[in-house]
Amino acid sequence: MHEMGIVSGILTASVDAAARQNATAINEIRIRVGELTEIVDDALYFAFEALTPGTLAEGATLVVEHVPGRSKCVECGTTFNHGRFDVECVGCGSYFCEMVEGRELEIESIDIDLPDEPDTGETP
Ligand SMILES: [Zn+2]
Repeated sequence: MHEMGIVSGILTASVDAAARQNATAINEIRIRVGELTEIVDDALYFAFEALTPGTLAEGATLVVEHVPGRSKCVECGTTFNHGRFDVECVGCGSYFCEMVEGRELEIESIDIDLPDEPDTGETP
């Protein structure tokens, strides 16, 4: 399953980032997924549930934000949203368009728990 590898990569990057900040846990991982990718949400959640136990992200929530397909018409310059199979300019009907968004697969943010810092009374 393709999604298992994707989530594995996201998880590795998130756990690395959290560990660098001495986080005690990851509460939430928010990712952006373009609608023109063929990624299935349910498969992402399934992979997340399967891969997180035993990691800093155990019990964390995976939030998937969808980025609609978006292209710019080369003929008239109109930028428009579209689905996976209907890339046709809404301004002039041209199919000569360049994709601007819709193939994203990236981590948007990670919410982590940090250990309580002992209050030394000093300002760094
Ligand atoms: Zn156009």
